[in-house]
This record gives sequence, C-alpha cells and structure tokens, in this order.
Amino acid sequence: MSETVLKILIDELNLIRLVCEKCGAALELSIDRLNGSGSIQTLTCPAGCGNIYRVPASHRSDTLAKLAEVVRDLKQVKGCRIEFVLQVKPDHGRVE
Ligand SMILES: [Zn+2]
Repeated sequence: MSETVLKILIDELNLIRLVCEKCGAALELSIDRLNGSGSIQTLTCPAGCGNIYRVPASHRSDTLAKLAEVVRDLKQVKGCRIEFVLQVKPDHGRVE
C-alpha cells in the first residue's frame, strides 16, 4: 500500500504552537526565544476564553523550555540530519 510521509528537518523547526482545546485559538512560541522565563503552568488562552493550560502535577517543571532547549541542542548536531517523520493518512473523502 502506498503512503505519503512528511519529513521535517529539525533545522526548520522554529515555532511551537499551543492550540486551545476549548476555542481553537493558537499561541505561537519561538524556539529560539523560549526559555525558563515563560512557563506553560502560567499560560491561559490568548483569545481570552478562560481556558488554562495545565501540566500534570507529576511534571511540574518548565517542559516547554526543556523541549526548546533539546531542539536547539539537536540543531547543533553535525554529521547527520535529524528529521521528524509524519505519516500522512489517506484522504477518506476522496472519489475513487
Ligand atoms: Zn481558548
């Protein structure tokens, strides 16, 4: 069976999007500027719907800053390309 695969080079990964599950508004955070000063534990929906973004109590550290730090570190790797791979599911609504 044929498949479509999307490969995203980590070098091209510059933004993290937080999409509100309540209203769909998105907050884009730059990986280059994301550090420990902005914690997801303190974020609320940018559209003002009142939704508060929560991290489980067992993970009370700045998880977004950690993710950004790891991405920045991986961008410095020499000798190989690091890619995220997404398998694109077939369009179930297509006409055959
Ligand atoms: Zn919202």
